[in-house]
Amino acid sequence: MVISAAAIAMATTNFMASAQNGFNYNVDRFADIEVLRYQVPGFEELSLKQKKLVYFLTEAALQGRDILFDQNGKFNLAIRTTLENIYTSYKGDRSSKDFKGLEKYLKQVWFANGIHHHYSMDKFVPEFSNSFFTEQVKKLGKKNLPLAKGQSVDAFIKEITPVIFDPAVMAKRVNQADGVDLILTSACNLYEGVTQQEVEDFYAQLKDPNDPTPVSYGLNTRLVKVNGKIAEQVYKIGGLYSSAIENICNWLKKASEVAESPAMKAYIDKLVEYYTTGSLKTFDEYSILWAEETKCDIDFINGFIESYGDPLGMTGAWESIVNFKNKQSSVRTQIISENAQWFEDNSPVDARFKKEKVKGVSAKVITAAILAGDSYPATPIGINLPNANWIRAAHGSKSVTLENITDAYDKAAQGNGFNEEFVYSDYERDLMKKYGSLADNLHTDLHECLGHGSGKLLPGVDPDALKEHGSTLEETRADLFALYYLADAKLVELGILPNADAYKAEFYKYVMNGLMTQLTRIEPGKDIEEAHMRNRHIITEWAYEKGKADNVIEFVKRDGKTYLRINDYVKLRDLFGQLLAEVQRIKSEGDYAAGKKLVEDYGVKFDSALHTEVIARYSKLNIAPYKGFVNPVYTTVTDAKGNITDVKIDYTEGYVDQMLRYSKHYSPLTR
Ligand code: ZN
Repeated sequence: MVISAAAIAMATTNFMASAQNGFNYNVDRFADIEVLRYQVPGFEELSLKQKKLVYFLTEAALQGRDILFDQNGKFNLAIRTTLENIYTSYKGDRSSKDFKGLEKYLKQVWFANGIHHHYSMDKFVPEFSNSFFTEQVKKLGKKNLPLAKGQSVDAFIKEITPVIFDPAVMAKRVNQADGVDLILTSACNLYEGVTQQEVEDFYAQLKDPNDPTPVSYGLNTRLVKVNGKIAEQVYKIGGLYSSAIENICNWLKKASEVAESPAMKAYIDKLVEYYTTGSLKTFDEYSILWAEETKCDIDFINGFIESYGDPLGMTGAWESIVNFKNKQSSVRTQIISENAQWFEDNSPVDARFKKEKVKGVSAKVITAAILAGDSYPATPIGINLPNANWIRAAHGSKSVTLENITDAYDKAAQGNGFNEEFVYSDYERDLMKKYGSLADNLHTDLHECLGHGSGKLLPGVDPDALKEHGSTLEETRADLFALYYLADAKLVELGILPNADAYKAEFYKYVMNGLMTQLTRIEPGKDIEEAHMRNRHIITEWAYEKGKADNVIEFVKRDGKTYLRINDYVKLRDLFGQLLAEVQRIKSEGDYAAGKKLVEDYGVKFDSALHTEVIARYSKLNIAPYKGFVNPVYTTVTDAKGNITDVKIDYTEGYVDQMLRYSKHYSPLTR
C-alpha cells in the first residue's frame, strides 16, 4: 500500500518560488502539473560497492517504464512514440496553437504514463486539432510510425485518432462508478474481451477459501478471452512484456553480484526466478525473503505491486523505487516499531480484531535514489509492503517514509500563499509552521508502519471481501490509526513529538484537506473517486457530522470566505478512534454492505457551493494541484579495463530531456 503525495496537499508549490540553497527544485509547469526535482543526500558517502548496487538497480528500474504505459492502455506506447516523433521532427511554427497543444498533451501523457490523468483517471482532452495531428502523422511516414505488422498509415490513423480525440472512446482508465460493468467501462489494458462477471467467476473458481496462504491471484496477468475461452497471459520472460522483463533481470543479476548480504542476494535471485517463471508462489517466497531482510542499507521494490490501477484491485502495476536508509531520521521509526505491540494493544478496536502478536513491523526513513513505473513521476511518500495479508501477519512487513521526497515538496512549497488563503488563523498557521513537517512525516510513519499492519481478519474472511471499496477502506483504516495515535501522550513520552500540541498541526491540516482543499482536484460536476481522496473525505466528513452536536469541527464564514475551525481537538481524536473501531470491524468481518454504505455516505459526494468557492480561491494562487519528479542522472566512471571506479550523480536534466532520453534508451516494448 502507498500513501500518496495528495496527503500533503499543503505542500503545494509556487512555480516561481524556489531556488533554495542553490538547489533548484522546480523543473516544469504545465496543465495541472508541476514537475520538481529531489536531492539524494548521502549518495556520495556510500561505498563504491553500494554505489554500484544502486546504479545496477536504477538501470533495472528504468527498463520497466514501457510496461506501465502498456498496462495503462493498449494504445499508450503507440501514441507516445508518435507524439515524440512529431515533437522532435516538427519543422513548422513551434509557437502555433496546434504545436503548443501537442506539446502540452505529450507532457501530460509522459506524466500519466498514458493518455489518462494519473489521478482522476479521465482521458486528457487534446488542445490540438485532429487535422493537424493527421497531417503530421502522414508527414512522419511509414518508417517513423509504430505501425503494427502489415498496418498501413491510413489504418493506423483510423485506429489511433478516436482514441485521442473522441471523448467517448476509452473515457476512463479505472472506472469505480456504481452499477456498471467496471471491466468493460475501464480503459486499462489488464483485461480484454471479458466482463466483470466473467473475471469474478474466473478467480472465484481458482480461490480456495480455506487456503491459509493464498497467492495474489491475477497480480501478474492480463485476463483475456480467446476463441471463447478465458485465459491468463502472464507477465514473465517468454510471456507478456518479455523483452522488458529480460532487461530488468539482466540488471538484477548484476546487482545480485554486489548485494550487501547473502540475505539480499537471496531475494534478488528469487525475484529473477519469479520474473522467469511468472509463478505467484515464487513471488510470495520472494516477498517473504524481502520482508525479512531488514539489515542492509540499500533496498528496492521492483515488480507488479500496487493494484489501484485495476478496477477490481487484483493486477499489480509495474513499479520500482531504489533507496537507501536515512539513518538519522530512522531513529524515529525505530522507536515506533519497537513499540508496535503497545500501539496494537491500546487501540480503540474490539479485542477480537487485534493481533495478539504484531510481527516484525520494520520501519525506516529512506532516501529515494530513483523512481520508476507507477512511482514516476508522481510518487508515493510512504510505502508499506508486501501487500499479501497472510505474509504480513506471518512474516511482517516493511514500511518506509521517503523523506527526501517530502523534503522536496516542503522546500518547493514555501511562500506560495496557500496557508494564508485557507488556514483559519495565525494560531493554526503557527502550529503548522512549528510542527507541520514533523507531524506530517510522523503521520506517514504511523500510517505505513502501524496502520496497515494492525488488526486481523476473522477466520474464513476473504481478504477481497470489500471488493471495489477494499482500497479505500484500507487507506481509511491506516489513516485513522495514524491520526488516533498522533494525539496520544505516548508519542511525547517516547520523545517523538516535542509536546502535547504538536499533533494539532496535522489534525488541522488533515481536516482542512479532507473537507475543503483536496476538492481543488475535482472537476465541477464530478464525484470523488480516487481511493486516498475518498478515504480522507470519509474520515473528515464523518467526524464533522458526528461531532456536530458538540461543534467539534466548524465551518466559519469570514469576508465571504469559508474557513474551518477545530473547536475541540480532544473530542476529534475520540471520533477518529470510534471510526477506527468501526472500519476495523468492517475489514475484520468482511462486512461489504457496511463498507459500501460508509464509502457512499461519506466518501463520494460533497458540497458543490463550497467546491466552487475553493476552486476560485485556489486558482488565484496559481498552484499546480499535482506534483511529480524528474530523477537524477547516474553515470559510471570506469578505468582503462572498464571496471567501475565511481558513480556520479547529476541533477541538471530537465523534464522533456529526461522523458525523451528514457523513451530512446529504455524502451524495449515500442515498435
Ligand atoms: Zn496506505
